[in-house]
Amino acid sequence: MTLWLYDIDGTILSTGGAGRSALNEAFEALYGVPQAFARVSFAGRTDPGIIADAFQLAEMEPRPHGELIEAYLPRLERRLGQGTTVVHPGVHAALDATHPMGVNALLTGNMEAGAQRKLADVGLWDRFALGAYGDDSPFRNDLVPVAETRARQAGRQFSRTVVIGDTPADVACARAGGAIAVAVLTGWSSREALEASEPDLLLEDLESGLDALLGL
Ligand SMILES: [Mg+2]
Repeated sequence: MTLWLYDIDGTILSTGGAGRSALNEAFEALYGVPQAFARVSFAGRTDPGIIADAFQLAEMEPRPHGELIEAYLPRLERRLGQGTTVVHPGVHAALDATHPMGVNALLTGNMEAGAQRKLADVGLWDRFALGAYGDDSPFRNDLVPVAETRARQAGRQFSRTVVIGDTPADVACARAGGAIAVAVLTGWSSREALEASEPDLLLEDLESGLDALLGL
């Protein structure tokens, strides 16, 4: 049995900028700084890491993340309601196929509450038994053992872990956690960058790559 750890942004779905817009709106509403996230890199990051960068670029003392996240969530919901999110090809079929082969779970830099809103928006939140989130660590490389511990605590059996993500940071976190790394080209990372990160498997998307994923 396998613990399947799916990344969200760029792997399961893309929100069409809803996440970044909602963070910008929340930051401006609280601190009066517009477009605080415009120059922050999001790919493969965690929300705490992204937020720390925004404070630094705004030349502000970092404030506790809680108040920003609280302001972010309703704005995220409103942005998601505009219908810009797309689910990437093959995601539904991959979840259907990996579910009987182990545990479908999440490994994402999103805070859990943000992850829930993004996935519920496309009807996928209840497809995952558990997850490791930005709440657990600002460092993505910490998250594989967090997910594994949660799965064991939930009484789930597995003999290996597979991380499915869209950036070199996902591949690095798989390596750091002793997991198998599967990269998909549905996010922002270039083929060259993903090839250079040396995943065990590099897929165009989860539709054309499903047989290879299941054959791992
Ligand atoms: Mg991603």
